[in-house]
Amino acid sequence: MTFDHELSVAIAAVKRAAQVCQAVQRSIPSAMAKQDKSPVTIADFASQAVICQALGEAFPDDPVIGEEDSAELRLPENKAFLERVQTELGHVGLNASPDEICRWIDRGGASSFGPRFWTLDPIDGTKGFLRGEQYAVSLALIIDGKITVAILGCPNLPLEAGGPADGGSLFTAVRGRGAFVQTCAGEAALNAPVRVTSTSNWADVRLCESVESGHSAHDRSAVISSSLGIQREPVRLDSQAKYAVVARGEGDLYLRLPTRADYREKIWDHAGGVLVVEEAGGRVSDIDGKQLDFTQGRELSANRGVVVTNGKLHDDVLKAIRESA
Ligand code: AMP
Ligand code: MG
Repeated sequence: MTFDHELSVAIAAVKRAAQVCQAVQRSIPSAMAKQDKSPVTIADFASQAVICQALGEAFPDDPVIGEEDSAELRLPENKAFLERVQTELGHVGLNASPDEICRWIDRGGASSFGPRFWTLDPIDGTKGFLRGEQYAVSLALIIDGKITVAILGCPNLPLEAGGPADGGSLFTAVRGRGAFVQTCAGEAALNAPVRVTSTSNWADVRLCESVESGHSAHDRSAVISSSLGIQREPVRLDSQAKYAVVARGEGDLYLRLPTRADYREKIWDHAGGVLVVEEAGGRVSDIDGKQLDFTQGRELSANRGVVVTNGKLHDDVLKAIRESA
């Protein structure tokens, strides 16, 4: 199997979803209005609708495990939200009734699934989205527990580090075939391979972590960093853009350290990013060094936290984590 069809359908779907997200984000008026969470709600539902519509048409038998379902959107008090989702979909050429839109969204609510399914985070990093910073649209195809195709759209991540955000960056990977980046908007003008760093000097290591200290323990990562001899300040960014940054060599390490013993990572928060990093030559495990197990349903219930490195640093990081416990 080449998965070329899966790849091209998924790329087109994520690009269209990113277009919707960008349009909604541009409509967020001012810093004051960022208290209002409605733009992210609208973009979240619209993004899931766009992607599930495309997957439903191309692969009607494939279940999709997405973050959202339409139950709330169908409530009478949320009629205005649903109408806005409908308007946004219309702007990208998807004209549908409210009921049809809800059915698309609910394609993403698969509760039972077999060995082949997609997992989707329609907007990962909602806080970053609201701040006008990093967020991601993450879609992955999992077969027999193996992430096989991954699309990671980062609409606010410049194609060139430090360059203009323009259309953002879209990362793609098919297992065994490497990882690539192209623009998130429009046709691919460039489709360049991405590769992790070969940094092994701790003084040069750039650590990425969540902006939100509730999602990853900043205090513990500071202890681990100092025991490893990391000198640079951590780079904090929202969403799976952290995986993208490590995959293309702008970071060397991404730590996600549990803040609560009972939290289990959601598969859609990781699947897309994991394959992109692995195909770029990096390594991903949980904090105990175990492979992430995507056969457990909606959650990575067999794992705790996540460690992402350029490969070279991995064993030393795991050791420092053990010693910091
Ligand atoms: P990030 O942008 O890296 O901060 O991660 C955003 C994701 O964190 C969201 O999509 C949530 O699913 C997830 N999340 C929510 N609560 C927690 C938690 N306590 N620990 C780790 N991740 C969480
Ligand atoms: Mg998420």
